[in-house]
Amino acid sequence: MLIVPEREIANLMTREAAFDAVEGVFAAMASKDAYNFPVIREAIGHEDALYGFKGGFDKAGMALGLKAGGYWPNNLEKRGLINHQSTVFLFDPDTGMVKAMVGGNLLTALRTAAASSVSIKHLARKDAKVMGMVGAGHQATFQLRAALEQRQFEKVIGWNYHPEMLPNIEKIANEAGVPFEAVELEGMTEADVVISITSTFAPTIMAKHIAPGTHIACMGTDTKGKQEVEAALLAHTTVFTDEVAQSISIGEAQHAVGSGLIAATDVHELGAVINGTHAGRTSDDEITLFDGTGVGLQDLAVAASVVDLAVKQGVALDVDF
Ligand code: NAD
Repeated sequence: MLIVPEREIANLMTREAAFDAVEGVFAAMASKDAYNFPVIREAIGHEDALYGFKGGFDKAGMALGLKAGGYWPNNLEKRGLINHQSTVFLFDPDTGMVKAMVGGNLLTALRTAAASSVSIKHLARKDAKVMGMVGAGHQATFQLRAALEQRQFEKVIGWNYHPEMLPNIEKIANEAGVPFEAVELEGMTEADVVISITSTFAPTIMAKHIAPGTHIACMGTDTKGKQEVEAALLAHTTVFTDEVAQSISIGEAQHAVGSGLIAATDVHELGAVINGTHAGRTSDDEITLFDGTGVGLQDLAVAASVVDLAVKQGVALDVDF
């Protein structure tokens, strides 16, 4: 069995490799070559932890396995460890034998950022110039760094519920050589692309905050009850997602579908756009919305990619198991 420890991931994995892995697996999902298994997520009654498994099988990429992990809210304060902890296990689809164990913490941020980037590549207007950020936490920095590579952005505007966190994303914009400006939510209408990546349970982005022609990637809602954007906004947008079943149950579309504003059939797979079986954006005035819920196959795809890189660079530990 090959082991790629968490400490090696930053040196191995690139945003480009994560992007290619995620784009490939979204395409495979839409062509039914890959599917996700039902997600398990449990409050284990210890340390207030949420623990679970996200798995799947990608027949096109021959990736079989799962990500095990979750959220330990006391880690940072009590132990100086990060609160989100995960590990990916890959198995040989021909034999069922375990192939690799891979640190999943940094990979999760990279694969989540790659998902919104893939949506920007395929759905945002080509002439997009202003990048809008709603959210300035841990994931937001990865999201912005990856998004800025998708278009010739000339400015980043940002709003956050906790304004003291905005320097986190200002730093990323500056590192990319793009000016940053803090705005009120009303100012988001200037953005051509908006990423929302917050943990809110009450919507902050209203329909009036999003201008015609915008592409919005809603990346924070990954649980029942969370909501970043007003449900009515979805009725005026063309809605895409990584996986329809997750989008309508734990993603942003859960609210619009639940209240009858849109039907489940109004939610389309981003993979279909990648494969050319859905037209994607059809006009410059259309608002496109990507509901990125985060699927196990994304984790397997980036883990498989990093294992290849680790083997090539001779840093994978090979254990007789
Ligand atoms: P974080 O704790 O570092 O940041 C949280 C962000 O949410 C901050 O910007 C904070 O200001 C904002 N926020 C908190 N309460 C708010 C409120 N009431 N109203 C508006 N904004 C509020 O968290 P993170 O690691 O950056 O994760 C952000 C979200 O992304 C979480 O909901 C997490 O579950 C989700 N996530 C999704 C995926 C996916 O694949 N879609 C992957 C990883 C994380």
